[in-house]
Amino acid sequence: MEIIRQITLFKEKIKEARRLGNSIGFVPTMGFLHEGHLSLLRQARAENDLVVLSIFVNPLQFGAGEDFEDYPRDLERDAALAVSAGCDIIFAPATRDMYPKDYATFVEVERLTSGLCGASRLGHFRGVTTVVNKLFNIVTPDRAYFGQKDAQQAIIIRRMAKDLNMGLEIDVLPIIREADGLAMSSRNSYLTQAERKSATVLYRSLCLANESIAAGERNAGLIEQLIRAAIDSERLAHIDYIAVVDAENLLELDKIEKRVLIALAVRFGKTRLIDNIIVEV
Ligand code: AMP
Repeated sequence: MEIIRQITLFKEKIKEARRLGNSIGFVPTMGFLHEGHLSLLRQARAENDLVVLSIFVNPLQFGAGEDFEDYPRDLERDAALAVSAGCDIIFAPATRDMYPKDYATFVEVERLTSGLCGASRLGHFRGVTTVVNKLFNIVTPDRAYFGQKDAQQAIIIRRMAKDLNMGLEIDVLPIIREADGLAMSSRNSYLTQAERKSATVLYRSLCLANESIAAGERNAGLIEQLIRAAIDSERLAHIDYIAVVDAENLLELDKIEKRVLIALAVRFGKTRLIDNIIVEV
């Protein structure tokens, strides 16, 4: 496996792979890999000739006062994990090469970006779509792999790829969880022991909602209240949002009648965690 930092050098590798007729599978990440990232890499390995992982902590998707500086970084550890999951090349560009001083171009998806995480992290998705667009142009993947963990992001990227005729396949894979249900996240490393314990309430509350819908509840407001009560019972948990929305267009629902996305963002101390489930009715 190779680690390439230079954009021009990396593009030469891609050109060579293309010359050989190799298909390219791509997993974009911010690094500090865990089983969630590795599940994407393994799927890419199974479906493509060349597997590319990008590691880039993208400053553009962090707001003022967010954790850009603190975000965990460990390339050596990531490289060992990436190899074990079948990665061929890690592309780890420098910020100054991705965004030189005269950088002026941004990509924005409308509507889908205004609610949920877009409402509490202004400009976040503009940063995500811009960097993913740049990475797609550099990597030229046949298939790109994303996690359902970032449900809104996956929907936005699918929209962008379709709207801009990018001609690649976007695969969205299930959330990988710890044994106690907590969705894996690089940010889990910020949690204190007590916060880590409390954080299991995210998935527990989503499971309660799922059970209630399975038992016949269709009132979205009541489902939201059920989740709110469960999370509020944890002293260390502070709700950012609870959303019960249409799983296709992210619009709010009064009544649960079709595929619904239930998504949460909750703070534990300085750490903001997200989780979600999709419920079919
Ligand atoms: P990140 O490094 O957090 O930007 O995540 C990179 C990719 O991994 C994104 O497509 C995420 O949705 C995905 N991902 C993160 N956590 C998980 C998880 N627990 N299960 C599955 N995919 C995940």
